[in-house]
Amino acid sequence: MPLPTIHNHCTGCGRCVAACLFTALSLETEQPNGFGQKRAVIAEDRCTGCLACLPACPYQAISGGTYGDVECCMGSNRTKS
Ligand code: SF4
Ligand code: SF4
Repeated sequence: MPLPTIHNHCTGCGRCVAACLFTALSLETEQPNGFGQKRAVIAEDRCTGCLACLPACPYQAISGGTYGDVECCMGSNRTKS
């Protein structure tokens, strides 16, 4: 199951962390954003692929992910990189 991707322009605001009901997101310094700050990281063993984190991000820093064979409509208007 492809998981969402957190992009380098993540600001570390933490809104996606609050939106994830499966505590699969955390802010980490080991994988910093493009500014050397904390950014969101997905724990692959906890992520269910529900994609609730995509609309929670005000910066469109999360994209991708599919659920089964169906492309998620929430990600269809996002720029993929
Ligand atoms: S897809 Fe769902 S479970 Fe996975 S990180 Fe996003 S909100 Fe959490
Ligand atoms: S992915 Fe978006 S919502 Fe999550 S911490 Fe980064 S900027 Fe904030």
